[in-house]
Amino acid sequence: MSAEIIDGKAVAASVREKVAQAVASLKEKHGVQPALAVVLVGEDPASQVYVRNKGVATEKSGMRSIEHKLPETTSEDEVVALVRKLNDDDTVDGILVQLPLPKHIASDRVINEIHPDKDVDGLTEVNAGRLILGKPGLVPCTPQGSVILAKTVKDNLSGLNAVVVGRSILVGKPLSMLLLAENCTVTMAHSRTQDLASVCREADILCAAVGIPRLIKGDWVKKGAIVIDVGINRIEEDGRNRLVGDVDYGEAMDVAGAITPVPGGVGPMTIACLLRNTVIAGARRRGLGEVDV
Ligand code: NAD
Repeated sequence: MSAEIIDGKAVAASVREKVAQAVASLKEKHGVQPALAVVLVGEDPASQVYVRNKGVATEKSGMRSIEHKLPETTSEDEVVALVRKLNDDDTVDGILVQLPLPKHIASDRVINEIHPDKDVDGLTEVNAGRLILGKPGLVPCTPQGSVILAKTVKDNLSGLNAVVVGRSILVGKPLSMLLLAENCTVTMAHSRTQDLASVCREADILCAAVGIPRLIKGDWVKKGAIVIDVGINRIEEDGRNRLVGDVDYGEAMDVAGAITPVPGGVGPMTIACLLRNTVIAGARRRGLGEVDV
């Protein structure tokens, strides 16, 4: 039997719709329009596309989008000064510094200058700490999107064995913490894990965030498992360019209970969760409580 395909595009659209409703309600009840400021340093073409897409999505949701495009030659102190200015700007609810930054700038320093309550990427040390401590904070977007997708298959993940392959700061680690918060029994696997196949076979929820095309084979997947494939890998196949995940989709399809495709799975959730974080941050920071998104 074929697995259920988890439609990331549709789920992302419904998250964006909920965000738009929350924004409309903040405007109507409190006269507030949340704003997201994005800082881009340099001319990296991929980053320019991401920033443009984020700006369009922000405006579509009814929020205000502010873009700061700085030349490649901008110094670290200048970027820090801009972040501080945005921290102090009471009309700005979310601050996102597009990564990667040019090599002469220490990303770590710049990111940690962002006020934690405006850190809509959830990458500051304070928000990472809040996540580990189980305190309310802002959570990284891709891991949050992955959990939302898993929960469309099974609302209550409590007690399930979750295996997260990959332990990056951006995806693997926060995703493991979020699954732990859902009361899963979490195993974090990585490049030094021995017998990765056997570890994966134990997973009721198998998340792959590695960056190796089709690393995870069909016979590594437990029958009926929920498979969340975060990987986005560009490969050349049959003379054309393709995007594939970290899971062998064709093989896993026959075994899994549900699976995210690549593209069209986790990918669309990232911007949706960024918008979600921005409206959450806006309402919290202004003392308007928790929005229902
Ligand atoms: P990363 O390179 O920072 O981390 C990769 C992780 O995989 C490491 O923790 C490493 O230990 C582990 N790993 C490497 N080789 C392994 C192996 N052979 N077996 C088991 N584990 C191994 O990557 P990342 O930033 O976490 O991204 C992972 C993937 O997710 C990439 O394909 C990236 O493009 C994709 N990604 C997608 C989104 C999105 O959907 N919006 C966002 C971020 C990342």
